[in-house]
Amino acid sequence: MHILIANLGSTSFKYRLYQMNGQDECVLASGGFERVTDYAEVIQQALAELVDQGHLKSIEDIDAVGFKTVLGKNLSGCVDADEKVIAALDGFREVAPAHNPPYAAGIKLFQELLPQSRLVALFETAFYQWIPESASRYAVPQSWYDAGIRRYGFHGASHKFVAERSAELMGREDVAEVVRNLYQDGPRTLSGKPLRVISFHLGGSSSVTGIRNGVAVGTSMGFSPQSGLPQNNRVGDLDSGAIPFAIKTLGISMEEAEQTLTKKSGLLGVSGVSNDLRDIRQAAAGGNPDAQLALDQLIHSARQWAASYLFDLGGLDALVFTAGIGENNAWLREAICADLEDFGVEIDVDKNNACQAQEAIISSDQSKVKIIVIPANEELVLAREVTRKIS
Ligand code: ADP
Repeated sequence: MHILIANLGSTSFKYRLYQMNGQDECVLASGGFERVTDYAEVIQQALAELVDQGHLKSIEDIDAVGFKTVLGKNLSGCVDADEKVIAALDGFREVAPAHNPPYAAGIKLFQELLPQSRLVALFETAFYQWIPESASRYAVPQSWYDAGIRRYGFHGASHKFVAERSAELMGREDVAEVVRNLYQDGPRTLSGKPLRVISFHLGGSSSVTGIRNGVAVGTSMGFSPQSGLPQNNRVGDLDSGAIPFAIKTLGISMEEAEQTLTKKSGLLGVSGVSNDLRDIRQAAAGGNPDAQLALDQLIHSARQWAASYLFDLGGLDALVFTAGIGENNAWLREAICADLEDFGVEIDVDKNNACQAQEAIISSDQSKVKIIVIPANEELVLAREVTRKIS
C-alpha cells in the first residue's frame, strides 16, 4: 500500500512516500519545497518526480494521502479529509493561522489532483478526545464553550506513539493493542494493574501528557498551542487577566499583544538570546542569567505539569522523553528527574548521558518508575493511522 504524507506549512511543502505492508514499513522517497508561492505547482512537481524516479508507476498508485491537521471546529479524530474537514479547519483558522489555511487549501488541491486516492486527516487533537470534561472544560459560561473555547491538546500523534511504544517496552501488549486501535474502537477497559505513563514531548513546541492504559487523562496544551510549557517563541501558560492589563497599561493593540505572545515570548522572550535551546544553554554556560532563567523555567514547568497528573493516574510506571529537546539533551532529562527518588524515579546518569536520539531505558535498575527515551516519528504515526483507516 502506498501512503503519501503531505506536510503543508505556511510557506513550505514536504512529503514522504511510504510503502506499508503489514510489519514492513518503508520510506520510498521524501522531499520538499521551501518559500512556496504556488502550492498546486509544487505538489504537481512532487507527484511527477515520484513517477519519474520510479517510486510509482503512476500517481494512481497512491492509495491514500495523510494530513497531520492541527485542530478543527467540532471535529477531531482520524477522518476522511473531505468538505467537513475543510469547513472545520476554516472554522478555527484564527486559532491556528499558520497551519489551518495551508491544510484547507492543500486538501482541496489533492482532491483535484488525486481524485482516485483516499485523503485522510489525522487531527493533532485526536488523542485527547477521551479526556474527562472536568479536565477539558474551562470554567467559562456555556456561550463561550459553545463557541469552541475548551482545552483541546496538541502533539497527539507524538504522544500516541509514546503510549504505544512505551506499553510495548513495558511488556504490556494489552495496552499497546488498545492504543493501536484507539481511533477505530475507542478506549477499552482492561483488567489488571493500570499502566500509568507521563509523556514529555519537548521540542520547538512542548507538551506533557498523562496517559492511563493508553488513553490520555490530561494535557498541558489548551485551546491553542499558546499554552502549557514555555514554547520556543510562544508564551505557554499566562493568566488571562494579563492580556487586557497589558493592552491598557502598555498602550498596545490586541494585534501587538498577540504578536508578542506568539512570536517574541517563551524561551526567546525570556532568554533574549534565541528560540533554540542549544544557543540558550551556551549563553547560560557563559554566565547569561536570562538564558539560565529560561532553562530553569522550562524545567520547572515540565516538572509541574508532570506532577499535575499524578493524582488522576493514581501512581506512575514510566516517564518518557521525546522530540528534539527531549531526545537530545541528557542534562535536561536529568534536571527534570532530579530529587524524585522518594517517588520511585531514579535516573541512571551514565545510561542517560549515553543516550542521544535513540530509544533507551535510562532509569537505574532499582528505579520503580522506568525512564525511557523514545524518538518521535510523526510521519510514521500518520502513515500507520492512515493505513488502519483505509484497510
Ligand atoms: P519542532 O517542534 O520544530 O519539530 P524539534 O522537535 O526538532 O522541533 O525540536 C527543536 C529543539 O530541539 C530546539 O530547541 C533544539 O535546540 C533542540 N535540538 C534539536 N536537535 C538537537 C541536538 N542534536 N542537540 C541538542 N538539542 C537539539
